[in-house]
Amino acid sequence: MCSLNDCSYNDNNEIHEFTKDLSTDATLCRKCRSKDIDILLVGQSGYCNACFLTATNHKFRAALGKSKIIRHGNSVLVDYSGELNSTVLLHLIKTGMSESVHKKLIFKTVVLYIDDSTVMKETDEERCAVRSKIIEQIKDFAFTGYTVSLSEVLKKEDDVNIKLVDHDQEVDNENNDQLLTILAKLPDDTSRLDLLFQLRRKLLIVAARKLNCDKILQADCATDVATKVLANICLGRSAQLSTLANFCDARCADVKILKPMRDFTQQELLHYSEYYKIDSLKLRDLGVSGPATSIQALTQKFTTGLESQFSGTVSVVFRTAEKLSARGNENQDVENNCVLCDAKLDNESSDQVSAIRAIRVSRIVSSDCVLIKNLSRNMEKGESNCESSQPDDKECSANCCRSNKKKRASSEDIQKYLCYSCRLIFRNLNIPNALPAPLLSTIEQRLALRNMRREINDFLL
Ligand SMILES: [Zn+2]
Ligand SMILES: [Zn+2]
Repeated sequence: MCSLNDCSYNDNNEIHEFTKDLSTDATLCRKCRSKDIDILLVGQSGYCNACFLTATNHKFRAALGKSKIIRHGNSVLVDYSGELNSTVLLHLIKTGMSESVHKKLIFKTVVLYIDDSTVMKETDEERCAVRSKIIEQIKDFAFTGYTVSLSEVLKKEDDVNIKLVDHDQEVDNENNDQLLTILAKLPDDTSRLDLLFQLRRKLLIVAARKLNCDKILQADCATDVATKVLANICLGRSAQLSTLANFCDARCADVKILKPMRDFTQQELLHYSEYYKIDSLKLRDLGVSGPATSIQALTQKFTTGLESQFSGTVSVVFRTAEKLSARGNENQDVENNCVLCDAKLDNESSDQVSAIRAIRVSRIVSSDCVLIKNLSRNMEKGESNCESSQPDDKECSANCCRSNKKKRASSEDIQKYLCYSCRLIFRNLNIPNALPAPLLSTIEQRLALRNMRREINDFLL
Protein backbone atom coordinates (compact mmCIF):
# COMPACT_ATOMS: atom_id res chain seq x y z
CA MET A 1 0.00 0.00 0.00
CA CYS A 2 1.26 3.45 -0.78
CA SER A 3 2.64 5.13 2.28
CA LEU A 4 1.04 8.43 1.37
CA ASN A 5 -2.37 6.92 1.88
CA ASP A 6 -1.47 6.14 5.45
CA CYS A 7 -0.72 9.73 6.31
CA SER A 8 -3.34 11.64 8.13
CA TYR A 9 -3.58 15.40 8.35
CA ASN A 10 -5.07 16.87 11.45
CA ASP A 11 -5.83 20.23 9.97
CA ASN A 12 -7.23 19.81 6.48
CA ASN A 13 -8.76 23.26 6.49
CA GLU A 14 -5.39 24.91 6.98
CA ILE A 15 -3.93 23.17 3.92
CA HIS A 16 -6.98 24.01 1.91
CA GLU A 17 -6.77 27.70 2.83
CA PHE A 18 -3.06 27.80 2.05
CA THR A 19 -3.60 26.32 -1.43
CA LYS A 20 -6.51 28.66 -2.04
CA ASP A 21 -4.41 31.70 -1.12
CA LEU A 22 -1.77 30.75 -3.60
CA SER A 23 -3.81 29.78 -6.61
CA THR A 24 -7.37 30.99 -6.44
CA ASP A 25 -7.46 34.30 -4.63
CA ALA A 26 -9.89 36.17 -6.84
CA THR A 27 -8.67 39.59 -5.71
CA LEU A 28 -5.07 39.13 -6.87
CA CYS A 29 -3.73 39.35 -10.42
CA ARG A 30 -3.49 35.91 -12.00
CA LYS A 31 -0.07 36.63 -13.47
CA CYS A 32 2.02 38.53 -10.90
CA ARG A 33 0.09 37.44 -7.80
CA SER A 34 1.06 40.66 -6.06
CA LYS A 35 -1.26 43.40 -7.31
CA ASP A 36 -5.04 43.72 -7.09
CA ILE A 37 -6.99 42.97 -10.23
CA ASP A 38 -8.06 45.83 -12.51
CA ILE A 39 -9.96 43.75 -15.04
CA LEU A 40 -11.87 40.51 -14.56
CA LEU A 41 -12.10 38.86 -17.97
CA VAL A 42 -15.31 36.92 -18.53
CA GLY A 43 -14.64 33.21 -18.02
CA GLN A 44 -11.02 33.87 -16.98
CA SER A 45 -9.17 35.22 -13.97
CA GLY A 46 -8.43 38.87 -13.31
CA TYR A 47 -5.31 40.81 -14.24
CA CYS A 48 -3.69 43.97 -12.97
CA ASN A 49 -3.31 46.67 -15.63
CA ALA A 50 0.43 46.13 -16.14
CA CYS A 51 0.07 42.36 -16.68
CA PHE A 52 -3.01 42.82 -18.87
CA LEU A 53 -1.21 45.25 -21.16
CA THR A 54 1.89 43.03 -21.37
CA ALA A 55 -0.29 40.01 -22.19
CA THR A 56 -2.28 41.97 -24.81
CA ASN A 57 0.84 43.24 -26.61
CA HIS A 58 2.39 39.78 -26.46
CA LYS A 59 -0.77 38.20 -27.88
CA PHE A 60 -0.76 40.66 -30.79
CA ARG A 61 2.93 40.15 -31.60
CA ALA A 62 2.56 36.37 -31.23
CA ALA A 63 -0.34 36.34 -33.73
CA LEU A 64 1.81 38.13 -36.31
CA GLY A 65 4.99 36.22 -35.47
CA LYS A 66 3.49 32.72 -35.39
CA SER A 67 2.20 32.94 -38.94
CA LYS A 68 5.58 34.12 -40.33
CA ILE A 69 3.64 35.74 -43.18
CA ILE A 70 4.86 39.29 -42.59
CA ARG A 71 8.58 39.56 -43.18
CA HIS A 72 11.17 42.19 -42.46
CA GLY A 73 10.58 45.33 -44.51
CA ASN A 74 7.17 44.32 -45.92
CA SER A 75 4.65 47.10 -46.62
CA VAL A 76 1.40 46.40 -44.84
CA LEU A 77 -1.91 48.16 -45.45
CA VAL A 78 -4.09 48.69 -42.37
CA ASP A 79 -7.83 48.83 -43.01
CA TYR A 80 -8.75 51.76 -40.74
CA SER A 81 -12.45 52.40 -40.36
CA GLY A 82 -12.36 54.82 -37.43
CA GLU A 83 -14.25 52.30 -35.29
CA LEU A 84 -12.84 51.39 -31.88
CA ASN A 85 -11.25 48.07 -32.90
CA SER A 86 -9.30 49.54 -35.80
CA THR A 87 -8.00 52.45 -33.65
CA VAL A 88 -6.84 49.86 -31.09
CA LEU A 89 -5.12 48.00 -33.95
CA LEU A 90 -3.19 51.16 -34.90
CA HIS A 91 -2.25 51.66 -31.25
CA LEU A 92 -1.02 48.04 -30.94
CA ILE A 93 1.11 48.44 -34.09
CA LYS A 94 2.54 51.72 -32.82
CA THR A 95 3.33 50.13 -29.42
CA GLY A 96 4.91 47.13 -31.18
CA MET A 97 7.12 49.44 -33.21
CA SER A 98 8.43 51.24 -30.15
CA GLU A 99 9.44 48.04 -28.32
CA SER A 100 13.06 47.07 -27.73
CA VAL A 101 15.05 45.93 -30.78
CA HIS A 102 14.46 42.17 -30.47
CA LYS A 103 10.70 42.57 -29.91
CA LYS A 104 10.15 45.40 -32.40
CA LEU A 105 7.64 45.04 -35.23
CA ILE A 106 9.54 45.72 -38.40
CA PHE A 107 7.23 46.44 -41.29
CA LYS A 108 6.16 49.58 -43.08
CA THR A 109 2.63 50.61 -42.12
CA VAL A 110 0.32 52.31 -44.61
CA VAL A 111 -3.13 53.26 -43.32
CA LEU A 112 -6.19 53.40 -45.56
CA TYR A 113 -9.54 54.91 -44.66
CA ILE A 114 -12.42 53.92 -46.93
CA ASP A 115 -15.02 56.69 -46.89
CA ASP A 116 -18.44 54.99 -46.94
CA SER A 117 -20.37 57.95 -45.55
CA THR A 118 -22.70 58.28 -48.54
CA VAL A 119 -23.79 54.67 -48.25
CA MET A 120 -24.25 55.03 -44.48
CA LYS A 121 -26.44 58.07 -45.23
CA GLU A 122 -24.35 60.55 -43.24
CA THR A 123 -24.84 64.27 -43.81
CA ASP A 124 -22.03 66.41 -45.27
CA GLU A 125 -21.23 67.90 -41.85
CA GLU A 126 -21.03 64.44 -40.23
CA ARG A 127 -18.83 63.19 -43.06
CA CYS A 128 -16.42 66.14 -42.81
CA ALA A 129 -16.26 65.88 -39.01
CA VAL A 130 -15.46 62.13 -39.11
CA ARG A 131 -12.96 62.62 -41.93
CA SER A 132 -11.01 65.37 -40.20
CA LYS A 133 -10.92 63.34 -36.94
CA ILE A 134 -9.61 60.34 -38.86
CA ILE A 135 -6.92 62.38 -40.62
CA GLU A 136 -5.91 63.84 -37.25
CA GLN A 137 -5.74 60.36 -35.71
CA ILE A 138 -3.55 58.97 -38.51
CA LYS A 139 -1.24 61.97 -38.18
CA ASP A 140 -1.07 61.50 -34.38
CA PHE A 141 0.13 57.94 -34.90
CA ALA A 142 2.64 59.28 -37.49
CA PHE A 143 1.67 56.71 -40.12
CA THR A 144 1.38 57.33 -43.84
CA GLY A 145 -2.34 57.59 -44.49
CA TYR A 146 -4.60 57.49 -47.55
CA THR A 147 -8.31 57.93 -48.10
CA VAL A 148 -10.55 56.65 -50.85
CA SER A 149 -14.29 56.75 -51.44
CA LEU A 150 -16.05 53.37 -51.45
CA SER A 151 -17.69 54.28 -54.77
CA GLU A 152 -14.24 54.24 -56.44
CA VAL A 153 -14.69 50.48 -56.58
CA LEU A 154 -17.01 51.11 -59.55
CA LYS A 155 -14.08 52.43 -61.59
CA LYS A 156 -11.50 50.39 -63.46
CA GLU A 157 -8.60 49.30 -61.26
CA ASP A 158 -6.16 51.72 -62.94
CA ASP A 159 -8.50 54.71 -62.49
CA VAL A 160 -9.10 54.31 -58.74
CA ASN A 161 -8.13 57.57 -57.09
CA ILE A 162 -6.48 57.20 -53.69
CA LYS A 163 -5.62 60.45 -51.91
CA LEU A 164 -2.83 61.04 -49.43
CA VAL A 165 -4.28 62.41 -46.17
CA ASP A 166 -1.50 64.99 -45.82
CA HIS A 167 -2.87 66.98 -48.70
CA ASP A 168 -6.24 67.19 -47.02
CA GLN A 169 -7.99 66.72 -50.35
CA GLU A 170 -11.59 65.64 -50.65
CA VAL A 171 -12.09 62.09 -51.93
CA ASP A 172 -13.66 61.62 -55.37
CA ASN A 173 -17.38 61.09 -54.94
CA GLU A 174 -18.40 61.09 -58.60
CA ASN A 175 -19.64 57.48 -58.53
CA ASN A 176 -21.63 57.80 -55.30
CA ASP A 177 -24.97 58.12 -57.08
CA GLN A 178 -24.21 55.08 -59.23
CA LEU A 179 -23.40 53.02 -56.14
CA LEU A 180 -26.59 54.20 -54.42
CA THR A 181 -28.62 53.24 -57.52
CA ILE A 182 -27.14 49.73 -57.52
CA LEU A 183 -27.87 49.33 -53.80
CA ALA A 184 -31.41 50.68 -54.18
CA LYS A 185 -32.16 48.00 -56.78
CA LEU A 186 -31.24 45.15 -54.43
CA PRO A 187 -34.13 43.29 -52.83
CA ASP A 188 -33.26 43.71 -49.11
CA ASP A 189 -30.76 44.93 -46.49
CA THR A 190 -29.11 41.50 -46.30
CA SER A 191 -28.13 41.68 -49.98
CA ARG A 192 -27.09 45.32 -49.63
CA LEU A 193 -24.74 44.60 -46.70
CA ASP A 194 -23.37 41.50 -48.42
CA LEU A 195 -22.60 43.48 -51.60
CA LEU A 196 -21.07 46.35 -49.61
CA PHE A 197 -18.87 43.89 -47.72
CA GLN A 198 -17.67 42.27 -50.96
CA LEU A 199 -17.07 45.64 -52.69
CA ARG A 200 -15.15 46.95 -49.69
CA ARG A 201 -12.93 43.83 -49.76
CA LYS A 202 -12.35 44.33 -53.50
CA LEU A 203 -11.43 48.00 -53.00
CA LEU A 204 -9.00 47.10 -50.21
CA ILE A 205 -7.22 44.66 -52.50
CA VAL A 206 -7.10 47.17 -55.37
CA ALA A 207 -5.74 49.86 -52.99
CA ALA A 208 -3.13 47.44 -51.58
CA ARG A 209 -1.91 46.73 -55.13
CA LYS A 210 -1.74 50.41 -55.98
CA LEU A 211 0.11 51.25 -52.75
CA ASN A 212 2.55 48.33 -53.24
CA CYS A 213 1.38 46.43 -50.16
CA ASP A 214 0.97 42.67 -50.31
CA LYS A 215 -0.67 42.25 -46.88
CA ILE A 216 -3.75 43.87 -45.39
CA LEU A 217 -4.42 43.96 -41.64
CA GLN A 218 -8.03 43.99 -40.50
CA ALA A 219 -9.20 44.67 -36.95
CA ASP A 220 -11.73 41.84 -36.62
CA CYS A 221 -11.88 40.54 -33.03
CA ALA A 222 -13.21 37.11 -31.99
CA THR A 223 -16.83 38.34 -31.93
CA ASP A 224 -16.51 39.91 -35.41
CA VAL A 225 -15.07 36.73 -36.92
CA ALA A 226 -17.74 34.55 -35.25
CA THR A 227 -20.47 36.95 -36.49
CA LYS A 228 -19.15 36.77 -40.06
CA VAL A 229 -18.93 32.97 -39.87
CA LEU A 230 -22.51 32.53 -38.66
CA ALA A 231 -23.89 35.18 -41.04
CA ASN A 232 -22.10 33.63 -43.99
CA ILE A 233 -23.53 30.19 -43.21
CA CYS A 234 -26.98 31.80 -43.46
CA LEU A 235 -25.99 33.55 -46.71
CA GLY A 236 -24.98 30.25 -48.33
CA ARG A 237 -21.23 30.82 -48.14
CA SER A 238 -20.41 27.75 -46.04
CA ALA A 239 -17.77 26.68 -48.56
CA GLN A 240 -15.82 29.83 -47.67
CA LEU A 241 -15.89 29.37 -43.88
CA SER A 242 -12.25 28.40 -43.40
CA THR A 243 -11.12 31.42 -45.45
CA LEU A 244 -13.29 33.74 -43.38
CA ALA A 245 -12.22 32.37 -39.99
CA ASN A 246 -8.55 31.72 -40.72
CA PHE A 247 -5.83 34.16 -39.67
CA CYS A 248 -4.89 34.56 -43.32
CA ASP A 249 -7.39 35.00 -46.14
CA ALA A 250 -5.42 34.01 -49.22
CA ARG A 251 -8.20 34.11 -51.83
CA CYS A 252 -6.14 36.59 -53.84
CA ALA A 253 -2.72 35.18 -54.60
CA ASP A 254 -0.93 38.54 -54.60
CA VAL A 255 -2.61 40.25 -51.62
CA LYS A 256 -3.35 38.45 -48.35
CA ILE A 257 -5.81 39.68 -45.74
CA LEU A 258 -4.71 39.02 -42.14
CA LYS A 259 -6.70 39.15 -38.90
CA PRO A 260 -4.17 39.67 -36.10
CA MET A 261 -6.86 40.51 -33.53
CA ARG A 262 -9.10 37.50 -33.93
CA ASP A 263 -8.01 36.09 -30.54
CA PHE A 264 -9.09 39.24 -28.70
CA THR A 265 -12.48 39.47 -27.05
CA GLN A 266 -14.48 42.69 -27.26
CA GLN A 267 -14.07 43.07 -23.50
CA GLU A 268 -10.26 43.01 -23.80
CA LEU A 269 -10.35 45.65 -26.54
CA LEU A 270 -12.70 47.85 -24.50
CA HIS A 271 -10.45 47.70 -21.44
CA TYR A 272 -7.36 48.42 -23.59
CA SER A 273 -9.07 51.45 -25.13
CA GLU A 274 -10.28 52.70 -21.74
CA TYR A 275 -6.78 52.45 -20.29
CA TYR A 276 -5.19 54.40 -23.15
CA LYS A 277 -8.23 56.68 -23.53
CA ILE A 278 -8.75 55.65 -27.14
CA ASP A 279 -12.05 56.94 -28.49
CA SER A 280 -14.11 55.45 -31.25
CA LEU A 281 -14.34 57.98 -34.11
CA LYS A 282 -17.17 56.17 -35.77
CA LEU A 283 -19.83 53.87 -34.42
CA ARG A 284 -20.47 50.59 -36.13
CA ASP A 285 -23.92 50.67 -37.63
CA LEU A 286 -25.55 47.57 -38.97
CA GLY A 287 -28.92 48.77 -37.78
CA VAL A 288 -28.25 46.89 -34.53
CA SER A 289 -29.77 49.56 -32.32
CA GLY A 290 -33.27 49.11 -33.71
CA PRO A 291 -35.01 45.96 -34.92
CA ALA A 292 -32.63 43.93 -37.11
CA THR A 293 -33.47 44.22 -40.81
CA SER A 294 -30.72 41.97 -42.13
CA ILE A 295 -29.23 38.56 -41.43
CA GLN A 296 -25.90 40.23 -40.60
CA ALA A 297 -27.44 42.52 -37.94
CA LEU A 298 -29.42 39.63 -36.47
CA THR A 299 -26.28 37.47 -36.25
CA GLN A 300 -24.35 40.30 -34.63
CA LYS A 301 -27.03 40.60 -31.92
CA PHE A 302 -26.92 36.85 -31.40
CA THR A 303 -23.09 36.67 -31.15
CA THR A 304 -22.88 39.65 -28.79
CA GLY A 305 -25.44 37.99 -26.51
CA LEU A 306 -23.56 34.70 -26.77
CA GLU A 307 -20.28 36.29 -25.74
CA SER A 308 -21.78 38.03 -22.72
CA GLN A 309 -23.49 34.88 -21.42
CA PHE A 310 -21.29 31.98 -22.50
CA SER A 311 -17.70 33.09 -22.69
CA GLY A 312 -15.52 30.94 -24.90
CA THR A 313 -18.37 29.90 -27.22
CA VAL A 314 -17.49 32.65 -29.68
CA SER A 315 -13.93 31.36 -30.08
CA VAL A 316 -15.29 27.79 -30.46
CA VAL A 317 -17.43 29.07 -33.36
CA PHE A 318 -14.53 30.47 -35.39
CA ARG A 319 -12.04 27.77 -34.41
CA THR A 320 -14.50 25.16 -35.68
CA ALA A 321 -15.13 27.19 -38.83
CA GLU A 322 -11.44 27.46 -39.72
CA LYS A 323 -11.25 23.65 -39.79
CA LEU A 324 -14.21 23.34 -42.18
CA SER A 325 -12.80 23.54 -45.64
CA ALA A 326 -14.55 22.60 -48.87
CA ARG A 327 -12.97 19.85 -50.93
CA GLY A 328 -10.71 21.16 -53.69
CA ASN A 329 -10.34 24.66 -52.19
CA GLU A 330 -6.55 24.33 -52.25
CA ASN A 331 -5.91 24.38 -55.98
CA GLN A 332 -7.62 27.60 -56.92
CA ASP A 333 -7.35 28.94 -60.39
CA VAL A 334 -8.23 32.64 -60.81
CA GLU A 335 -10.34 31.76 -63.87
CA ASN A 336 -12.53 29.51 -61.72
CA ASN A 337 -13.12 32.08 -59.00
CA CYS A 338 -16.25 34.14 -58.45
CA VAL A 339 -15.70 37.62 -59.94
CA LEU A 340 -17.23 39.30 -56.90
CA CYS A 341 -16.01 37.39 -53.82
CA ASP A 342 -13.02 35.50 -55.33
CA ALA A 343 -14.24 32.21 -53.82
CA LYS A 344 -14.10 29.00 -55.81
CA LEU A 345 -17.08 28.73 -58.16
CA ASP A 346 -19.68 26.12 -57.29
CA ASN A 347 -19.37 23.09 -59.46
CA GLU A 348 -22.55 22.58 -61.43
CA SER A 349 -21.37 20.01 -63.94
CA SER A 350 -24.17 17.79 -65.14
CA ASP A 351 -22.67 14.52 -63.95
CA GLN A 352 -22.51 15.53 -60.30
CA VAL A 353 -25.31 15.52 -57.79
CA SER A 354 -24.84 18.52 -55.52
CA ALA A 355 -26.80 20.70 -53.13
CA ILE A 356 -26.57 23.57 -55.60
CA ARG A 357 -28.19 21.49 -58.36
CA ALA A 358 -30.91 20.37 -55.94
CA ILE A 359 -31.68 24.02 -55.12
CA ARG A 360 -31.80 24.89 -58.82
CA VAL A 361 -34.22 22.06 -59.63
CA SER A 362 -36.39 22.82 -56.63
CA ARG A 363 -36.54 26.52 -57.59
CA ILE A 364 -37.64 25.72 -61.14
CA VAL A 365 -40.25 23.23 -59.94
CA SER A 366 -41.71 25.58 -57.33
CA SER A 367 -41.51 28.78 -59.36
CA ASP A 368 -44.30 30.44 -61.27
CA CYS A 369 -45.59 28.37 -64.21
CA VAL A 370 -45.48 31.46 -66.45
CA LEU A 371 -41.79 31.92 -65.68
CA ILE A 372 -41.07 28.27 -66.55
CA LYS A 373 -42.94 28.67 -69.86
CA ASN A 374 -40.99 31.83 -70.65
CA LEU A 375 -37.73 30.12 -69.75
CA SER A 376 -38.42 27.08 -71.90
CA ARG A 377 -39.63 29.29 -74.80
CA ASN A 378 -36.44 31.36 -74.57
CA MET A 379 -34.33 28.23 -74.45
CA GLU A 380 -36.10 26.85 -77.55
CA LYS A 381 -35.45 30.10 -79.38
CA GLY A 382 -31.85 30.05 -78.15
CA GLU A 383 -32.30 33.45 -76.49
CA SER A 384 -30.66 34.54 -73.30
CA ASN A 385 -32.48 34.33 -70.00
CA CYS A 386 -33.54 37.96 -70.13
CA GLU A 387 -35.65 38.69 -67.06
CA SER A 388 -37.38 41.65 -68.63
CA SER A 389 -40.66 40.71 -66.97
CA GLN A 390 -39.37 42.08 -63.67
CA PRO A 391 -41.38 45.19 -62.82
CA ASP A 392 -38.46 47.09 -61.26
CA ASP A 393 -36.27 46.87 -64.33
CA LYS A 394 -37.61 49.38 -66.77
CA GLU A 395 -34.39 49.72 -68.74
CA CYS A 396 -34.03 45.99 -69.21
CA SER A 397 -35.93 45.59 -72.45
CA ALA A 398 -33.82 48.33 -73.99
CA ASN A 399 -30.35 47.81 -72.54
CA CYS A 400 -30.19 44.07 -72.02
CA CYS A 401 -31.35 43.15 -75.50
CA ARG A 402 -29.17 45.83 -77.07
CA SER A 403 -26.22 44.52 -75.08
CA ASN A 404 -26.86 41.04 -76.50
CA LYS A 405 -26.59 42.43 -80.03
CA LYS A 406 -23.22 43.90 -79.03
CA LYS A 407 -22.30 40.40 -77.79
CA ARG A 408 -21.97 41.65 -74.25
CA ALA A 409 -22.27 39.26 -71.33
CA SER A 410 -25.82 37.99 -70.91
CA SER A 411 -27.49 37.12 -67.59
CA GLU A 412 -26.67 33.45 -68.12
CA ASP A 413 -23.02 34.20 -68.87
CA ILE A 414 -22.74 36.37 -65.77
CA GLN A 415 -24.33 33.73 -63.54
CA LYS A 416 -21.62 31.28 -64.62
CA TYR A 417 -18.96 33.57 -63.13
CA LEU A 418 -20.73 34.25 -59.84
CA CYS A 419 -20.88 31.82 -56.91
CA TYR A 420 -24.24 30.74 -55.48
CA SER A 421 -24.32 33.42 -52.75
CA CYS A 422 -23.24 36.27 -55.03
CA ARG A 423 -25.97 35.27 -57.46
CA LEU A 424 -28.44 35.53 -54.55
CA ILE A 425 -27.46 39.20 -54.03
CA PHE A 426 -28.78 40.01 -57.53
CA ARG A 427 -31.75 37.66 -57.46
CA ASN A 428 -34.87 38.80 -59.34
CA LEU A 429 -32.84 41.52 -61.08
CA ASN A 430 -31.56 41.95 -64.57
CA ILE A 431 -27.93 41.26 -63.68
CA PRO A 432 -26.23 43.10 -66.60
CA ASN A 433 -27.86 46.33 -65.38
CA ALA A 434 -27.36 45.76 -61.67
CA LEU A 435 -23.77 44.49 -61.66
CA PRO A 436 -20.96 47.04 -61.05
CA ALA A 437 -19.18 47.85 -64.33
CA PRO A 438 -15.67 46.50 -63.45
CA LEU A 439 -17.17 43.09 -62.65
CA LEU A 440 -19.03 43.10 -65.95
CA SER A 441 -15.84 43.87 -67.87
CA THR A 442 -13.95 41.10 -65.99
CA ILE A 443 -16.66 38.64 -67.04
CA GLU A 444 -16.47 39.87 -70.65
CA GLN A 445 -12.69 39.41 -70.64
CA ARG A 446 -13.06 35.86 -69.33
CA LEU A 447 -15.74 35.13 -71.94
CA ALA A 448 -13.54 36.47 -74.73
CA LEU A 449 -10.65 34.37 -73.48
CA ARG A 450 -12.84 31.27 -73.31
CA ASN A 451 -14.15 31.85 -76.84
CA MET A 452 -10.64 32.40 -78.15
CA ARG A 453 -9.48 29.17 -76.49
CA ARG A 454 -12.41 27.32 -78.09
CA GLU A 455 -11.59 28.75 -81.52
CA ILE A 456 -7.92 27.82 -81.44
CA ASN A 457 -8.51 24.50 -79.68
CA ASP A 458 -8.42 22.50 -82.94
CA PHE A 459 -5.04 23.95 -83.84
CA LEU A 460 -3.43 23.06 -80.53
CA LEU A 461 -1.31 19.93 -80.36
ZN1 LIG B 1 -0.23 41.51 -12.42
ZN1 LIG C 1 -19.08 34.98 -55.01
